[in-house]
Amino acid sequence: MSVINKNRFIKQHIELYGNELFFEFAPNLNIKDALLKNSVLEEFESLVECCMKCELGKSRKNFVFGSGDKNADLLIIGEAPGDYEDEKGKPFVGKAGKLLDKILKAIGLSRNKNVYITNILKCKTPNNRDPLLSEINNCNSYLLKQIDLIKPKIIIALGKVSGKSLLNKDLSLNDMRSHLREFNSIPLKVTYHPISLLNDSSLKKNAWEDFQVVRDFLNRS
Ligand code: URA
Repeated sequence: MSVINKNRFIKQHIELYGNELFFEFAPNLNIKDALLKNSVLEEFESLVECCMKCELGKSRKNFVFGSGDKNADLLIIGEAPGDYEDEKGKPFVGKAGKLLDKILKAIGLSRNKNVYITNILKCKTPNNRDPLLSEINNCNSYLLKQIDLIKPKIIIALGKVSGKSLLNKDLSLNDMRSHLREFNSIPLKVTYHPISLLNDSSLKKNAWEDFQVVRDFLNRS
């Protein structure tokens, strides 16, 4: 549009609608917030990815911070990166991740749309042993900051290690699964780790029920 036409358009607009101009994108300040959140989370990742708080820093290939939609309503928290994840620097990219992708698809989500995925530990453990309490404590501030920045509406903890460390209670997985719990006032659904589902397909029915609870929660919110 030429300058003359722009001026005519504005004059006509003022005659018709008065002195205030409304643009379709103006109310959508969320875009600005979303971009800001992306850059703050990325900056935070670049600050902590060289972490050497514990021995795992020496043996890892990659610090696996997390990935997905930084403005997600759903935050998924696994245990610790495995071999594939350590190699690629991304969470859940091996067999368990493929199953997780299928489950997410079944509830109408995908890992890059409204879902962010991370782990309790950001580094692989030797021989994929369970995380030590000291390692969990060392990594805790990273997870807390991620939660604080992402502000998910609901969290899924995958498996006993993740559920126990978020709830800070030594409960059985079935106890933790039995109802929607809370982490720092955010609803928390504990369910099976996809590896357990790959090892025992009879658990899939219960896991499906858990994911449906999350789907219904997100549809209501
Ligand atoms: N298992 C996990 O708990 N996290 C991953 O990222 C991969 C496998």
